[in-house]
Amino acid sequence: MTPMKWFLSFLKRYRKNMILGLILTVLITALNIVNPYISGMIVDDVILGGAYPLLLPLVGCMLGVIVIRGVMRFLYQVVFETASQGLLYDMRDKVYRKLLQEDFRFYNKKRTGDLMSRQTGDMDAIRHFVAYVIYVTCENVLMFAFALTMVFTVSVKLALCMLAVLPFTALATYRQSKEVKPAFQRNRNCFSSLNAFVQENVSGNRVVRAFSKEDYEIEKFNKENNAFRAAQISASGVWMKYVPIFEVLAYALNIILMLYGGYMVIHEEITLGALVTVNGYLWMLNNPLRMAGWLVNDIGNFITSVEKIYATYSEEPDVKTPPAGVRKKLKGEISFEDVSYRADDEDIVMDINFHVEPGQTVGIIGSTGSGKSTVMNLLCRFYDTTSGHVKVDGIDVRNMDLYNLRDNIGMAMQDVFLFSDTIEGNIAYGRPDCSFEEVKKAAIMADANHFIQAMPEGYDTIVGERGVGLSGGQKQRISLARALLKDPSILILDDTTSAVDMETESYIQKQLKLIEKDCTIFIIAYRISSIKDADLILVMDKGRIIEQGTHESLLAENGYYASAFRNQYGEIPEELLKGGN
Ligand code: ATP
Ligand code: MG
Repeated sequence: MTPMKWFLSFLKRYRKNMILGLILTVLITALNIVNPYISGMIVDDVILGGAYPLLLPLVGCMLGVIVIRGVMRFLYQVVFETASQGLLYDMRDKVYRKLLQEDFRFYNKKRTGDLMSRQTGDMDAIRHFVAYVIYVTCENVLMFAFALTMVFTVSVKLALCMLAVLPFTALATYRQSKEVKPAFQRNRNCFSSLNAFVQENVSGNRVVRAFSKEDYEIEKFNKENNAFRAAQISASGVWMKYVPIFEVLAYALNIILMLYGGYMVIHEEITLGALVTVNGYLWMLNNPLRMAGWLVNDIGNFITSVEKIYATYSEEPDVKTPPAGVRKKLKGEISFEDVSYRADDEDIVMDINFHVEPGQTVGIIGSTGSGKSTVMNLLCRFYDTTSGHVKVDGIDVRNMDLYNLRDNIGMAMQDVFLFSDTIEGNIAYGRPDCSFEEVKKAAIMADANHFIQAMPEGYDTIVGERGVGLSGGQKQRISLARALLKDPSILILDDTTSAVDMETESYIQKQLKLIEKDCTIFIIAYRISSIKDADLILVMDKGRIIEQGTHESLLAENGYYASAFRNQYGEIPEELLKGGN
């Protein structure tokens, strides 16, 4: 599908509005012809012909036309405005839904500010096109055609003379449209870039301050700001160059009329009334020529915006839910079979093999960047494996309904994100219809209840972007409560207790023991204490599982895990070292 076809698919839904609007446009434009015609009659028949009693009825007619035109103008604006707002609503909705379907790869590569520009500035260019540009273009084309036809009925020779400006107009329109497109593309890119910069800086405001980088950021902002200004000026430069050309062409019509029309009246080829009539049509010929430059500009802007929005919209996610994917409550048996994942021509994880029974707890430990989070991302199908199979309850996750799979997983992610909402709203995010008691129970399990209740507004305290500041450990515990409340079959805690003290961690571990029989739990951690009781411990390094087993067997192996133990606790007790032999 091309961007324009995509746009037309939205416009089609408002075809009734568009047809009604265009009929009104035709009627209004046709009415424009009446008054100059009556003016000609007043000059020829009333003033020069002496039919004085006709003056009042003729002026009355002119007034009637003005009133009817006014009413119609109001109506067609309502019709086009409703269509444009409706179309924009549908388009925003569709683009937003698509954004929600996009996978991690898409968001890794896109800047938030860019995506925001698609939904704001670009959408507005489309609204302007539907609400204004379409009908103004039609009105002007019709106006020009009607007026020219009327001039033809008055005098073919005069009309032909006036027609001589058209090829010049066509040429100027063509050239402007060619120049305006790249200028607008540059303009939109700079706008997106400026937007993205501001968005990133506002979000990262604390880092900027902590490093006293205000001056550096202002300098960078100035660069973006300058680039946008330059792009705007260069886009304006295009129409600034062409608008005077259209003006000159428009005035050329006046000159032709006065020169050749005057000549014809003097030589009695046409009457004075006819000259007045044609003069009355003159603005209908002039105006479209004057508007041409602006309209070409607006159309160029519109096309660029549709192309930009469509480019974002048409990006298909790699990870898609299969058409008839398995949907069921999962038990939580998990196996990774020769799983590898490559991204950007780089091996991220390789040859991952392990098996977990439902209700088991798995600890994952390993150096930073060793692929621990990636393994969990593959389990949740945030990415698809490059080779091998990730199976849950014996079913390849690629054959499982994506939403069903993720519904069965509760995840406390490594970088905690809280929405601008109350604490209760954040914890209940996965199950918005659950009772307050359930929210509180999850918070108690995550050892979050104490500090939440100590807050002035308790569970109603707003957190997230516009809310109160929370400590790292507090955020982690809210995120843990959010994952627990889902009552999942698989619980993933990615570095979830790294910012809490030992006492809190051991409390949380006890709470997790209460649910472990119904839930397979993955705990990613650096601290041995967080994972030592796990049924299976995976030790990762450079994208591979280098050791796997229980705490005791791994200590006995005296490898990476044992040296991590030594780093954290000192020497390994003799009996443990022997235990594995
Ligand atoms: P940490 O303990 O610091 O959280 P980790 O073990 O969780 O580390 P991962 O987040 O799994 O590490 O990342 C492993 C490596 O793979 C990193 O170098 C990361 O940059 C890279 N990586 C992960 N996912 C992708 C991706 N989709 N595209 C490119 N690189 C990726
Ligand atoms: Mg990680």
